[in-house]
Amino acid sequence: MDVFESLESEVRSYCRGWPAVFNKASGSHLYDEEGNAFLDFFAGAGTLNYGHNHPQLKERLIDYLAGDNIVHSLDMYTVAKRRFLETFQEVILAPRGLDYRVQFPGPAGAAAVEAALKLARKYTGRETVISFTNAFHGMSLGALAVTGNSMKRSGAGIPLNHTVPMPFDNYLDGQTPDFLLFERLLDDSGSGLDIPAAVIVETVQGEGGLNAATPEWLRGLAALCERHEILLIVDDVQMGCGRTGPIFSFEQAGIVPDIVCLSKSLSGYGLPFAVTLLKPELDVWEPGEHNGTFRGPNPAFVTATAAMEFWTGEGMEKETLTKGEQIEEALTRIAAAYPDAIGGVRGRGLAQGLVFADAEVAPAVCAQAFDRRLLMETSGPEGEVVKLLPPLTTTSDELAEGLDIIAASVDAVLV
Ligand SMILES: *Cc1c(COP(=O)(O)O)cnc(C)c1O
Repeated sequence: MDVFESLESEVRSYCRGWPAVFNKASGSHLYDEEGNAFLDFFAGAGTLNYGHNHPQLKERLIDYLAGDNIVHSLDMYTVAKRRFLETFQEVILAPRGLDYRVQFPGPAGAAAVEAALKLARKYTGRETVISFTNAFHGMSLGALAVTGNSMKRSGAGIPLNHTVPMPFDNYLDGQTPDFLLFERLLDDSGSGLDIPAAVIVETVQGEGGLNAATPEWLRGLAALCERHEILLIVDDVQMGCGRTGPIFSFEQAGIVPDIVCLSKSLSGYGLPFAVTLLKPELDVWEPGEHNGTFRGPNPAFVTATAAMEFWTGEGMEKETLTKGEQIEEALTRIAAAYPDAIGGVRGRGLAQGLVFADAEVAPAVCAQAFDRRLLMETSGPEGEVVKLLPPLTTTSDELAEGLDIIAASVDAVLV
């Protein structure tokens, strides 16, 4: 371990909870350098929806590299980019009746969010962006300004402004009608709220504790945005690419955002890649006004194109929902055994978790799971939620195995 501790910055984090040196990975498993297998219920924070080194994606990637095809291309036209765009149009956008322009903002979720925020401000000529309590949108300054977590915000070292947080769905425990405060502030010219450029929202808050907005709440938000001519940005970086069932997490609500951010599982292989999707009329960018060196990640175009082929039928979506039910049942059973210590099951599809009354318990459960060779992380403002993000390709047997480990880990901490 020495070189990690002597040379790598203190900012490292996941490795502290998982003190192993990993070397190989395949499907739902990682292997440390001694060859021990770990079941992966984190999947790179939702980056590996098709597991590690999926054979179909790997084959395309190896062929592409072996053929001396172009790897880096700024934003030049390439064959790999053409295939990606054509397939994206054909498999993802057209069947859903979606009409978006595709912007390549640079290879990270935060880059997709920055582009979305900049564009919303440029298009509307307004400054304020509305975010939600417990939102997470990334670590760059613009994205941090719409992020809730106080520890992450304080890392900015400067004021994070031009944003206003509003209560996410059920933040006030159902005690007020949805959007009561938001609508009132918008309607009252004395409220002090400047007319916002945009609202940015996650349908399920991955980092913020797996709070899942109901379809009704999302429809209400979309309608409110339309009434007040505010742009609606859905950050689907973590919950998109099929994590909650459909390829876009907002499909269940039947809404069509003005701007959509995708990243994490977009390349399907763990290669850095992101897109910002914008309604055609919003495409007011000047050439090069938002730029970046790594906007032509051709190997990621290749694996993303291959991954989209998994979505030609309804198989992926149905399977994900079925596996989500398997998880919900098992977690509900665990929660029922400890009604005082466990506040319930949260999330949707293959992003679900257990909420613990005592925030110390969740990391202890993850540590017990690690001892039993299962990788899981916590989420929520106090880290009080144990979060499950298995690859969508995890088999039902692997899920059952992992869920048994979680039950044993919870028992070990709470009994
Ligand atoms: C991970 C994440 C981001 C940031 O992505 P990076 O690649 O880490 O910059 C933004 N939004 C959401 C919802 C995320 O989960």
